[in-house]
Amino acid sequence: MSKPNIVILGAGYGGMITTVKLQKSLLAEEANITLINKHDYHYQSTWLHENAAGTTHHDRTRIPIQDIIHREKVQFIQDTVCAIDPEEKKVKLSDGEVSYDILVIGLGFEAATFGIEGLAEHSFTINSINSARLIREHIEYNFALYNNEQRKKQARLNIVVGGGGLTGVEFLGELANRVPELCREYDIDKAMVRIINIEGASTILPNFESQLVEYAINSLEARGIELITDASIKECQKDHVIYEKDGIEMEVPTMTTVWAAGVQANEIVQQSGFQTTNGKVKVRKDMRTPEYDDVFVVGDCALVMDEQTNRPVPATAQIAVQEASLVAQNIKALVKGRELQKFEPNLKGTVASLGEDDAVGVVFNNRKLYGWKAMIMKQLIENRYLYMLGGFKLMLKKGKFNLFV
Ligand SMILES: Cc1cc2nc3c(=O)[nH]c(=O)nc-3n(C[C@H](O)[C@H](O)[C@H](O)COP(=O)(O)OP(=O)(O)OC[C@H]3O[C@@H](n4cnc5c(N)ncnc54)[C@H](O)[C@@H]3O)c2cc1C
Repeated sequence: MSKPNIVILGAGYGGMITTVKLQKSLLAEEANITLINKHDYHYQSTWLHENAAGTTHHDRTRIPIQDIIHREKVQFIQDTVCAIDPEEKKVKLSDGEVSYDILVIGLGFEAATFGIEGLAEHSFTINSINSARLIREHIEYNFALYNNEQRKKQARLNIVVGGGGLTGVEFLGELANRVPELCREYDIDKAMVRIINIEGASTILPNFESQLVEYAINSLEARGIELITDASIKECQKDHVIYEKDGIEMEVPTMTTVWAAGVQANEIVQQSGFQTTNGKVKVRKDMRTPEYDDVFVVGDCALVMDEQTNRPVPATAQIAVQEASLVAQNIKALVKGRELQKFEPNLKGTVASLGEDDAVGVVFNNRKLYGWKAMIMKQLIENRYLYMLGGFKLMLKKGKFNLFV
């Protein structure tokens, strides 16, 4: 293939690692590489719950794309992808169009509200810097307003989190740390604040082992979080949510409902006519779409089946990064006319943060970790990613080292 146009959509985990690996492995004369993203920065979605709670400023989470790419090799376009035409090999942007010879789709995830009444209109979701910043500002505004109203509204101090999976639990852990600070700042009695989690399964962190779940429950409840399991949100309005438990509907007054119970692949993929399963492209073993030899999919837009369990590989940053490394390798193989390799996921475990210095998780050979040891592991994982992305400089600038101090 003579100097192909390689176009990468989305600068998340999948898109950024594909770009960084390609800029290292291909010469400027071998390919034109173009990265397209809505914003001029990359952000680590795995830190967004901290930005939403206000425990970490969003500037810490975002990284200017121009600081990572080699400008002589990669052209960056800041624009929004509106549609993909795989027959014509074109991507429609809000301000123009680009053609490609090889395409990588890494447009990530968006919230799925499953048609629950009022949820799309009235709940908040943690899926971008903008949405996380809005949650932080909204909570703070309600705390600030509380003492300035003659008729005090408890709904301003109640925070409901829908979903007790990884995102929901990590956000609850941060809130547990942040709320005492907010109470001091806005002269509010901490006992007045309720942080309520509503989870459909019989436990939070349903994919974690029972000892880890028990630890997480104790850690959250000790800091005042109310956990309601086997319950489902039925309706969400501006000033209350209704949930059902044991066949009984209950109403909680709240101005802040954060929906962390469902994500789906970016809708653009399905809308562009690719064959999808639950909105994701069930990719071939080499990460290409079933129908197009020149389109790769990475991260949360891709559905990869685990050959051993015959179940989908979880959509995580860890997997997006592994897929991206293989996609970059396979693009190089395609350009050079070599054989493409097969993706083999390497599930290294998961660590759920429970706040600044607490976490639970399983790593390597099923080793369970709790408390500060789990948190150090979480920080090592995050710092390793920063190193992969931008070397020591980026790791030292953006990395987390607070437990080592
Ligand atoms: C709070 C939270 C905590 C999490 N914790 C963990 C964890 O501990 N471990 C883990 O492995 N995973 C975790 N995840 C999941 C992980 O973040 C995702 O699986 C991962 O981000 C997927 O990577 P991606 O590259 O597919 O997409 P993303 O990282 O979502 O990136 C997509 C990119 O595409 C851009 N984009 C989207 N639409 C358009 C458009 N139309 N035009 C142009 N650009 C567009 C976005 O701005 C973004 O830059 C967590 C997620 C959340 C929300």
